[in-house]
Amino acid sequence: MAIIEVNNLNLGFECECGLRQALFDVSFRLEKGKMHALVGESGCGKTISAMSILKLLPKTAKILSGQIYYDDKDILNLPQRELQKLRGAKIALIPQDPMTSLNPLYTIGDQLLEVIKIHQGLQGAEAYKKAVEALEMVQIPCADERMKSYPHEFSGGMKQRAIIAMALACKAEILIADEPTTALDVTIQAQIMNLLNDIKTRMNTAILLITHDLALVSENADYVSVMYAGRIVESAKADEFFKHPKHPYTLALLRSLPSKRGEKLLAISGQPPSIQQAISGCRFHPRCDKCMDICIKQLPESYEVGREHFCVCFLHK
Ligand code: SF4
Repeated sequence: MAIIEVNNLNLGFECECGLRQALFDVSFRLEKGKMHALVGESGCGKTISAMSILKLLPKTAKILSGQIYYDDKDILNLPQRELQKLRGAKIALIPQDPMTSLNPLYTIGDQLLEVIKIHQGLQGAEAYKKAVEALEMVQIPCADERMKSYPHEFSGGMKQRAIIAMALACKAEILIADEPTTALDVTIQAQIMNLLNDIKTRMNTAILLITHDLALVSENADYVSVMYAGRIVESAKADEFFKHPKHPYTLALLRSLPSKRGEKLLAISGQPPSIQQAISGCRFHPRCDKCMDICIKQLPESYEVGREHFCVCFLHK
């Protein structure tokens, strides 16, 4: 069942040269107990799509059209107070750099207790017990002792666990994990992903994973949406996606993954367009090795290429 539904979201940024569109008809859904990965290169619009769910957007951003539903509430039209309640309490953000969310001046325990006080209305011994439980759930050793630690006394992986503990402490139903393991080494990466998977299954949490790493997606996600230059160009259940990838950009991303030992990696030539660049037709056409005449003149629509598998490309019309 969908807990978040993003429908045809169009968003632009005001800049000196006027309004520049950054998201084009972005649609995806998050389901309870499932992980949906939004994949693409830097600047493709995946973070801004996710931040739209929290309505945490830069001042220059302007939502042009579309809807975002949480249960049956239209998030984009919620009053500020209602929106504030959703952030943190129902929808929590796990950022790439945990220090953007942790306050270096307060202990981990104080920060957890604050979250529990605001979102669960608990105080004193009861709140303290919940805080320790949350740290234990994310496998912080000697949780009781660690309540007194400051963020700088935690390693990168432990800081990320503390952020996840805060989301658990306020019983968030949706986690938005924005490149949550990019700053961590490979072993810790795997531990954090195992932890997120465990939370997903045990607590029926919906997770939106934002990443550029298709290998991470193949091991963890239930659904995949690939973004390119502000548009979702392919989406499917993860099994179907990795068995039958269709879009030339997806295929190029998969070719650039390390697979067999000694096999040459193929980089995608060229750069994604900047927001200022006006491109006619398919926005991937300057980099596409399958580009046809029509691709330069016309924008492809989304075509169904399999069960719940969509691809925005004229090759699959
Ligand atoms: Fe390539 Fe054309 Fe498909 Fe775009 S529509 S991805 S240019 S084949």
